[in-house]
Amino acid sequence: MNILIFLGPAGSGKGTQAQFLTQKLGYFHVSTGDLLRKEVASKSDLGQQVESIINNGDLVSDDIIISIIKQTLNELVAKSDCHGVIFDGFPRTKDQAMALDELVHSFNFNLPSVIYFDLSLEESIQRISGRLIDSRNNNVYHKDSNPPPEDAMPFLMTREDDVPEKVTHRYGVYQRSTEPLLDFYDGRTTTLDCLQSIHTLNQLLIDNVDSMNQSLHSG
Ligand code: ADP
Repeated sequence: MNILIFLGPAGSGKGTQAQFLTQKLGYFHVSTGDLLRKEVASKSDLGQQVESIINNGDLVSDDIIISIIKQTLNELVAKSDCHGVIFDGFPRTKDQAMALDELVHSFNFNLPSVIYFDLSLEESIQRISGRLIDSRNNNVYHKDSNPPPEDAMPFLMTREDDVPEKVTHRYGVYQRSTEPLLDFYDGRTTTLDCLQSIHTLNQLLIDNVDSMNQSLHSG
């Protein structure tokens, strides 16, 4: 099974591109943010435990995240039609990355490839301020650059952690905890300049997956 890791700050387009690629390739999209928000919405014990952490823009503990990922991977490998997974927002710390390495090894998956979505703080704030989410399926839109379809209008919502102060805080958390993973994944990372259009980025990702598959088959 192929594993793609999408690494990058809030608003860099990870969710939008994951949505596109999963539809195109039949991969599964695993967004730890979406999984956690689902727990919060259902008011489960876990949801109540993580709600304020998420709303403040801090990181949920590694133990919780790793156990969610283990459970999700167990469910996915049981599906015969699962050929690939896109991790969007995971791993976010070195301990999470090490836990994923162990899981990859124990499930005998192909080594993950990493896509780094490069975006400045200013652009992150700008993009997040226009972000709209379809509550039915978590599809992500932007009011100007990627407007939602008419039928989604009654279901659109914004996230409580998407206000500028919290985006700035999340960007700092990202720089301290997640950006160092670029060294951890040195040699396995492709960097995307996220200022390019959504369509250009779609194409770059398709090319990247093609070359990933070629190198897997050639060696
Ligand atoms: P973003 O828009 O910043 O990429 P996400 O939807 O991926 O946001 O995540 C929202 C929030 O969920 C994060 O700010 C954090 O509180 C929590 N979260 C998501 N994934 C992780 C993770 N891998 N480790 C710790 N916390 C996480």
